[in-house]
Amino acid sequence: MIVEPKVKGFICITAHPEGCAESVRRQAAYVKSRRQEGAQGPKRVLVIGASTGYGLASRISAAFGCGAATLGIMFEKEASEKRTATPGFYNTRAFEQLAAAEGLYAKTINGDAFSDEIKDRTIAQIKEELGTVDMVIYSLAAPRRTDRDGTVYTSVLKTTGEEYTNKTLDLRTNGISQVTVPSATAEEEAATVKVMGGEDWREWIRRLSGAGVLAEGALTLAYTYIGPKITHPIYFNGTIGMAKKHLEQTALAMREEFREQKLRAYVSVNKGLVTQASAAIPIVPLYMSLLYRVMKDKGLHEGCIEQMERMFRERLLLPEIPTDEEGRIRMDDYEMRADVQEAVERAWDAVTTENVKEYADIDSFHEDFYHMFGFGYDNIDYTKDVDIL
Ligand code: NAD
Repeated sequence: MIVEPKVKGFICITAHPEGCAESVRRQAAYVKSRRQEGAQGPKRVLVIGASTGYGLASRISAAFGCGAATLGIMFEKEASEKRTATPGFYNTRAFEQLAAAEGLYAKTINGDAFSDEIKDRTIAQIKEELGTVDMVIYSLAAPRRTDRDGTVYTSVLKTTGEEYTNKTLDLRTNGISQVTVPSATAEEEAATVKVMGGEDWREWIRRLSGAGVLAEGALTLAYTYIGPKITHPIYFNGTIGMAKKHLEQTALAMREEFREQKLRAYVSVNKGLVTQASAAIPIVPLYMSLLYRVMKDKGLHEGCIEQMERMFRERLLLPEIPTDEEGRIRMDDYEMRADVQEAVERAWDAVTTENVKEYADIDSFHEDFYHMFGFGYDNIDYTKDVDIL
């Protein structure tokens, strides 16, 4: 089949298998090029949400930066005769092949991470093939969660106070328009915390520990975002922000709960980047395309893989993990630098549909978007037939 991008709203419903493999190859090559000889690190890593974005970049950093065995959990669709698989499916296949070529254990369980069934399967597989895990990365970005009793909770991207109006970028026309983000009901806020908060992360850790497959002194991480004031009503103080606060509280609570096992639980504040999860948030794409321009001009731009490789090398692998006063790992240090934020604020006030190309790096935003689905790589011939299965 000749596979072309088919974009619907903020998602592309096709994915190119060779392009996805190229994206994983590039990320692995980047990590390998920065690998320090003799670097110590985790050896058996479980990544929950391992197939795209930050979870995939974490998995690649653990495997190719530290030589770790990795077990990944993902929720991806396989291809059919007529339909391509989701990008995470192709990414994972490519990752497993690259890892195997280097003699690294790399296996993946495809299913709903919130379910007991997948947790049990994961534990059984760890017992059988790895013994224990010494790192657990929790990088789920999920729209909904089906609970044990069958209740479905859906996360929403709304404010928790007044509705909020600000500029946004229309990704189809590249025009600047106004968007109003409505305020959530208490029920919607609670559902978002249920899906994206720390409850399921804690459940994973409890079960892994209870089954004796969590090594003493293991490190567990989940990811959050803070960002600038303009996005606070929709992100940091919005429904998703409430879930993220719950995630932070969970990290602290788990340190207490698993004190005897010397569990090291952290939340890392990552940089805002184009991923399948973040492209869906109103206002954020405009902020990010302005940020891309500023950070590129200053030589500070990083994608998922640069962030995660740096997190391992300059944070996780140090004898003591550096944190802010709230105990969080800060990988958003470049994004939040005063000079970067001042430049973005100036651009935010000035940007209009007429001058958007001057202020916003829309091309990079689009390039990153297409790359996520395996499109836009100059060394892939997209006119050629490709096996999608
Ligand atoms: P993403 O959409 O690229 O990845 C989500 C992953 O979760 C995929 O591997 C997917 O298969 C998996 N997944 C989703 N639902 C699942 C389920 N029910 N069972 C099993 N796997 C499931 O998202 P991302 O942007 O990399 O986000 C990962 C984490 O990083 C999130 O917590 C997000 O809030 C956080 N974060 C993102 C940004 C950003 O700008 N993208 C910034 C800071 C923090």
